[in-house]
Amino acid sequence: MNPELTVVIPVYNEEEGLPMLFERLYPALDGLHTPYEVIFVNDGSRDRSAALLSQQYEERPDVTRVLLFAANFGQHMAILAGFEHSRGDCVVTLDADLQNPPEEIGRLLEQFRLGHDYVGTIRRQRQDSAFRRHASRSMNRLRAKTTRIHITDQGCMMRAYGRNVVELVNSCREANTYVPALAYTFSRSPTEIVIGHEERHAGTSKYSLYSLIRLNFDLMTGFSLVPLQLVSMGGMVLSLCSALFVVFLAIRRLIVGPEAEGLFTLFGIAFFLLGILLFAVGLLGEYVGRIYQQVRLRPRYVVHTVLQGPPAVGTQDAPQESTPA
Ligand code: UDP
Ligand code: MG
Repeated sequence: MNPELTVVIPVYNEEEGLPMLFERLYPALDGLHTPYEVIFVNDGSRDRSAALLSQQYEERPDVTRVLLFAANFGQHMAILAGFEHSRGDCVVTLDADLQNPPEEIGRLLEQFRLGHDYVGTIRRQRQDSAFRRHASRSMNRLRAKTTRIHITDQGCMMRAYGRNVVELVNSCREANTYVPALAYTFSRSPTEIVIGHEERHAGTSKYSLYSLIRLNFDLMTGFSLVPLQLVSMGGMVLSLCSALFVVFLAIRRLIVGPEAEGLFTLFGIAFFLLGILLFAVGLLGEYVGRIYQQVRLRPRYVVHTVLQGPPAVGTQDAPQESTPA
């Protein structure tokens, strides 16, 4: 029988935090008194994470499965791999760094049982740097406007998804994606709850400013054409303005006569427009690059080892023992 709950946890260089995670996660899940499985996806960690995960697998092989990636493919690819191997009716994603307390999984499950196929979360008191807080608030607002995806707190990855949503996400072959947003577009009855948020227990954030910017580009371009439309509309408005300006200059020429002042103003305007132009080309490139990645049809991730119980090697619906102790 399939378990009711699957917990998917992406792991990238988390050796310092993993022991604590195991210590809190398993009792919390056992306390739910429902069949569950935990899928750890090691995203090509360069530290001892993989060894710690195999060790944990030895300890709880009944409920633990471990996917080892051949290289670092990113958090969202790790989650997608977890989705593809999941069997539960309700799939909960969780960060390995204990910023989302595993004790809250029960509350997500409660909402799922009430019939919600997407349970988002809002961090009660966000424990991140002020810069991250402000940046993410304004990105949230921008994203809500351009994509019509209503996620109050996009940074929090602890979420629950119904089987129907997970299957639909699995059927997408997107090379770049942001899982919560993709899942949101498929959900029939989304909801959000407020959960606690703790400081990172050990290790450091795996996201640099650069990868955060990349992630937000994925969100904008992956779910909306509004940025492109804004650029073309901006171009139209600018051409109209400059046409009017040319008419104005022509009339002025007739009245005032030839003038050669304002050279630097001209430079100023020209460089401003050049900036806009470069941005527009870059934006176009973001879309083209994604199309390029998509058409190459390379595997999105490579799993080199799967540690799981004997009953189901590679099959999704083979009977699975899940006996929470
Ligand atoms: N992660 C991953 N691959 C990566 C980066 C991060 O699997 O390339 C995992 C990481 O181990 C953690 C989760 O994704 O479980 C969130 O990462 P992190 O806590 O560094 O992000 P933040 O909380 O700072 O947004
Ligand atoms: Mg974190």
